[in-house]
Amino acid sequence: MTMKTSALPMVTPVQPSWIAPSFEQALALHHSVPLKAQAISTLQVNVGKVCNQTCHHCHVDAGPQRTESMSLTTIDQILDVLDRTPQIRTVDITGGAPEMNPHFEYLVEQCRARGRRVIDRCNLTVFYVKGKAHLPRFLADHRVDIVASLPCYEADNVDQQRGKGVFNRSITALQTLNGLGYGAEGSGLMLDLVYNPLGPVLPPPQVELEQDFKDELGQQFGIQFNRLYTITNMPISRFWDELHEAGQLEHYYTLLLNNFNPLAIDGLMCRSLLSVGWDGRLYDCDFNQMLDLPAQPDSHAWIGRFNLVEWEHRSIVVGPHCLGCTAGSGSSCGGALT
Ligand code: SF4
Ligand code: SF4
Repeated sequence: MTMKTSALPMVTPVQPSWIAPSFEQALALHHSVPLKAQAISTLQVNVGKVCNQTCHHCHVDAGPQRTESMSLTTIDQILDVLDRTPQIRTVDITGGAPEMNPHFEYLVEQCRARGRRVIDRCNLTVFYVKGKAHLPRFLADHRVDIVASLPCYEADNVDQQRGKGVFNRSITALQTLNGLGYGAEGSGLMLDLVYNPLGPVLPPPQVELEQDFKDELGQQFGIQFNRLYTITNMPISRFWDELHEAGQLEHYYTLLLNNFNPLAIDGLMCRSLLSVGWDGRLYDCDFNQMLDLPAQPDSHAWIGRFNLVEWEHRSIVVGPHCLGCTAGSGSSCGGALT
C-alpha cells in the first residue's frame, strides 16, 4: 500500500462540511492519491435529461419538463472520437430516458456500424410514450444490450419510487423484450436489471438478490433476464434532498464511510470510463456530471477536444459523494464491484 500526499483534485460541492474530507482520507489510507484513470474502454454518453418519469431517487433530476438534449453535432463528434479511438469498445447510452433524444436511433446505428457494443439504459416505460413503440424491435435488430431499471419485484415498492403504474408497464415491457429473445440463453441479446434500495441503506448482496429476482419474476410473470446489478443510491440530487429533508444526511454518510471497502477502488468505473454530457462536456462519471464537476483540466474537457493520451491516465475529480461507490460491495453502473 502506498500513501502519497500530492494534490488531489478534491472538491467539496453542496455537501455538509463535517463530511467533506472523508473520501479523500479513506482513499489515502489504502491507495495512492490522486486517484488515476487506468484506461478508457467505455464512453458513457448522457444524451439528455428529458424523461417520461420523475423517480424519487433520480440523480439526474430528469423529467418530462427538462429540455436538455444532445445535438446531432455533438453526436457526430462522439462518432469521430470512436473512429480514431479503437480502444473504446463500448458506448453506454444513458439519460434521462435516452430514447427521448430525437437522434437516439442514429447514435445507436452509427455506433453499431463501427462495431461497438452499445448499452441502452432503459426505463422500460418509454416504450409506451407516443411514437416509441418501435423501440423494442429496433433495439433487438441492432443487438443493443439493455440495462433496465427495476428496483423491486413488488408493485408497491416500484410504484412508490418510480411512479404509479410503472411496475405493471415495466413487467409488460420485459415480457415484450423476452418475446424478442432478450434474456434468453444463447440469444446474445442481453437484458440486465438494476436494483437500488428504497431508502438510506446499502444494497443486499448482489448474487443472492439476483436469484430472488429470477425466482420471483420467473414464477409470477414468466420473465427471464441475464444479470441483476445492485447500485448504491448516491447522495446527490433528489436523493440528497430527500436525506436532507428527513434529517438523515449524517446517518447516510456515516453508513457509507463506515462501510468503506478498499477492494472496490480498483474497479471504480471512473478508472475505465469517460462520461460525455448532453452538451459535449467531459466528466469522470455520470455522478460528477450531475454535480457539475468536469474532468480536469476543465478547459480541455470537451468531446470536440478529446485526446486519448491526455485523458486515459488523468487524475479523477473526487468528492464526498464518491463514498457511495466504495461502500459495502462497491457500486457502479455495472453493479457491485467486489
Ligand atoms: S427513469 Fe431514470 S432518468 Fe428517468 S426519472 Fe427515473 S431514474 Fe431518472
Ligand atoms: S462518484 Fe464514483 S465513479 Fe464518480 S468519480 Fe467518484 S468514485 Fe469515481
